[in-house]
Amino acid sequence: MKQIDLKQDKPQGKPIQSHETFSFCCHSGLSCFNLCCRNLNLMLYPYDVLRLKNHLGISSDEFLDRHVDVVLRPSSFFPEVLLKMSETSEKTCPFLTDAGCSVYPDRPDACRTFPMEQGVMYNKGKEKEKFVYFFRPPDFCQGRFENAQWTPLAWIRDQDAEIYQKMTARWARVKSLFQCDPWQGQGPDCPRGKMAFMAAYNIDRFRDFVFQSTFLKRYPIKSDVLKRIRASDTELLKLGFEWIEFFIWGIASKNIRLKQRV
Ligand code: SF4
Ligand code: SF4
Repeated sequence: MKQIDLKQDKPQGKPIQSHETFSFCCHSGLSCFNLCCRNLNLMLYPYDVLRLKNHLGISSDEFLDRHVDVVLRPSSFFPEVLLKMSETSEKTCPFLTDAGCSVYPDRPDACRTFPMEQGVMYNKGKEKEKFVYFFRPPDFCQGRFENAQWTPLAWIRDQDAEIYQKMTARWARVKSLFQCDPWQGQGPDCPRGKMAFMAAYNIDRFRDFVFQSTFLKRYPIKSDVLKRIRASDTELLKLGFEWIEFFIWGIASKNIRLKQRV
């Protein structure tokens, strides 16, 4: 695992309020077409990994082996994954083709909302999160001179990013816990750390863990939830987030708590 210090730790650029608009349209007729899909520190969230590996039709293990670097920021005690750029001099995204993005329907959250960036804030003790938005096109981006106008929410809807926003916000809650060190000096490579990483980024192994270990004997998962997690990787990933909170931090939820002894 590499230690990294990313400059883009916090969203930067012009803050946009939810009622404000920005001009933007991206299309293949612009001289900058595809220029932004190279030499990126493209952080992948757990839901991004799930969607991409399903799009590519490969296992989570294969995806993680081929396409990501696992990194640790100084500000967090939980590893993150960065999409590996190609090893050419241009360091293009591995999914970039002359015609554009080859994984477009399942492109990562950051690509969907680009050139906007979003951050999530939580009020202590309150369940509801607050999103903050920034407009941050690179200098070469010509799309910002086009006529189409967007508010942040209209842009998120247009880019089919609502489910991504929900999953990213849910993950941000889990990640915020890891501003404190839970590893008791052993670091995130310890067995507990590897289990938590698996639940977040390796949905295939987490599914085996849930359905093929003693997991369901230890946790009383209700039948309707079981049905949902069998049918949907997204629901399974949400359960994974709850499980990390319980397994590492002892935070019980309505789905994840130990069976009562009778
Ligand atoms: S995933 Fe698609 S949109 Fe995102 S950087 Fe790669 S090619 Fe560009
Ligand atoms: S630089 Fe801006 S307009 Fe050009 S391809 Fe990228 S997002 Fe689209």
